Amino acid sequence: MPQTSPPSILVIGAGITGLSTATLLQKHLSTANITIVAAETPNTPSPSVDYASMWAGAHYRPIHPLSTEQLKEEFRMGVRTAEVMKGIAREFPDSGVEFMPGVEYLENPPEEIFKIRNGDVYAGANDEFRILSQDALPQGAKWGCEYQSYCVNISIYCRWLMGRFLANGGRILQHRLSNAVDAFTLADGDRTGDVPVVVNCSGRNFDRDPKMKIIRGQTVLVRQQYTKTITRQNADGSWAFLIPRPRRGGTIVGGTKEVDDWEATARPETRAKLLQQCVETFPDFVDSVEKFEVVQDNVGRRPWREGGYRIEIESVGPGRTLVHGYGAGGRGYELSWGAAERILELVKESLAARARL
Ligand SMILES: Cc1cc2nc3c(=O)[nH]c(=O)nc-3n(C[C@H](O)[C@H](O)[C@H](O)COP(=O)(O)OP(=O)(O)OC[C@H]3O[C@@H](n4cnc5c(N)ncnc54)[C@H](O)[C@@H]3O)c2cc1C
Repeated sequence: MPQTSPPSILVIGAGITGLSTATLLQKHLSTANITIVAAETPNTPSPSVDYASMWAGAHYRPIHPLSTEQLKEEFRMGVRTAEVMKGIAREFPDSGVEFMPGVEYLENPPEEIFKIRNGDVYAGANDEFRILSQDALPQGAKWGCEYQSYCVNISIYCRWLMGRFLANGGRILQHRLSNAVDAFTLADGDRTGDVPVVVNCSGRNFDRDPKMKIIRGQTVLVRQQYTKTITRQNADGSWAFLIPRPRRGGTIVGGTKEVDDWEATARPETRAKLLQQCVETFPDFVDSVEKFEVVQDNVGRRPWREGGYRIEIESVGPGRTLVHGYGAGGRGYELSWGAAERILELVKESLAARARL
């Protein structure tokens, strides 16, 4: 294959990370052929619990304080993603992204959070961040705040991203791989041609990374529509939250965070507990459990990685590079564009190194 032919890049995964990355590669490497290969896509009729993107809330809730390098990096990715999402919400109202107030009440706040001041950047530029006064907090809460956040109607948004990718000449192969390196071989037998770079957005890296864990999440989608996203951290470490789905998609009532719990079906007792907790915590939404119009239970496995998102280059042979982008945990949507931009830089670096061979 002559060096001048346009490179083909294969992205494993059609979750939020793979779709955002493939879209960005398409935009910035306009001569490259970009193919997504994924076991499941937003069109898969009954997505599995392992396809985390189909089960997310999804809202943006920044994590403070920024006590580790990982959290600082995630903060930067979150702020950058919020900036891109603002543009999307403004330009494409049918994308399923909508800005709305975000509210937080913490019963057990970390000490460092009291260093944050009104007007500091909490979620992004012009986020209207303000700390709530003690008398504005519900009983038991020791710290609270309000800012501009956004929520994503996940099925509309993922289909919208996929539609743009296809309309711009991208290709999607539905196929289950047994590991990331096999993507090079798959490309050999396919009309994809010479593939110098495979981007691994498989969520959990085929369960081959000892740092990977799953965090089970169970939530309930109800038909009633709330107008802001609100989160309460309870003293026992559990969470209550409401995430409205834009474009009248109802509201997510959540939710659990169960490390290493592989139960794939919804537990009825968890649904009952979440709805009861919601009535007690957010009585201005729905004031009795009987009044909820339940649409469905959601169960998904968050792909959490100890030490954070793995975004890095791995050389797998002469002229062949794997760029990893997996392990987003519970933050795949809110970090998506920041992560995709870092992955893009690594893909460019890999292509430049290959050109020097
Ligand atoms: C209940 C719940 C609530 C959440 N709420 C939020 C929220 O409010 N905000 C937020 O930002 N995030 C939230 N998340 C987290 C978010 O869903 C994940 O971080 C995100 O979906 C991870 O996306 P991903 O693209 O990396 O992985 P995934 O969505 O898991 O996608 C992986 C892709 O790789 C493909 N793949 C995997 N294995 C193979 C294989 N062997 N061969 C071929 N293809 C393969 C899959 O088919 C899929 O296309 C929540 C998650 C859950 C479960």
